[in-house]
Amino acid sequence: MSKTALWCICEKSTLYIENDSLPCCSREELPFSIGETITIAEEDGLPVFLASPVGDHPQFTSFRSMLPVDDRRYYLISRALSLNNMVTEHTFCSHCGHQCTLSRKEIAMRCPNCHALNYPPISPCIIVAIHRDNRLLLARHASHSNRLATVLAGFLEAGETLEQCVEREIFEEVSLRVKNIRYFASQSWSFPSQLMTAFTCDYAAGEIAVDHVEIREADWFSCTNMPEIIPMHGTVARRLIDNFISSSTDR
Ligand SMILES: [Zn+2]
Repeated sequence: MSKTALWCICEKSTLYIENDSLPCCSREELPFSIGETITIAEEDGLPVFLASPVGDHPQFTSFRSMLPVDDRRYYLISRALSLNNMVTEHTFCSHCGHQCTLSRKEIAMRCPNCHALNYPPISPCIIVAIHRDNRLLLARHASHSNRLATVLAGFLEAGETLEQCVEREIFEEVSLRVKNIRYFASQSWSFPSQLMTAFTCDYAAGEIAVDHVEIREADWFSCTNMPEIIPMHGTVARRLIDNFISSSTDR
């Protein structure tokens, strides 16, 4: 294989992987046909190309199943999946309805009719660990078929600050009031295009009452009685939980 480019060949939230990594070769050496390419980054002096398969191709790998991956690889793949979502799903102008084409000056969709530029859609979300003494609130979501217990999360609504979103989501889902909301970390979550902003906060008032719409059950857990299934490594949800565990054991 000639090392001429690194390839992110995507289809929804899956991609083509060779020997557990992104293929590094020329276009001609790829084992199936691809469509138009977009340069999305540079890595070790090589261009990183995004493309979609055309026609038959081998089985692709789900990005979720690859987690955890190192930060740089995570960046490249989540950037590729988000931009692929823009190119394949956001093809019509939101102003006049004409079919857009990819702008080559910057990565955005350009309308040939009204010249509007439509940038990659990214939806901000919050994800939050609520601490109460030496315990952490974990919830089981109605949409999860397994017994996964995790921290609360939700989409930012128009007009809100991230902190207001934290307060609202927590009150809507489990009826609690919180204080000391602190920024923790963020993570691009390209399923297809969320930005998770993670916070920690402290319990202030109220008793847990789940909404039974998004949340099926919720409870307080200490680091010695964690639920059997918690989020996988490589997610910011897991980092929030691991942060709680290490801060409890440090005390
Ligand atoms: Zn237009």
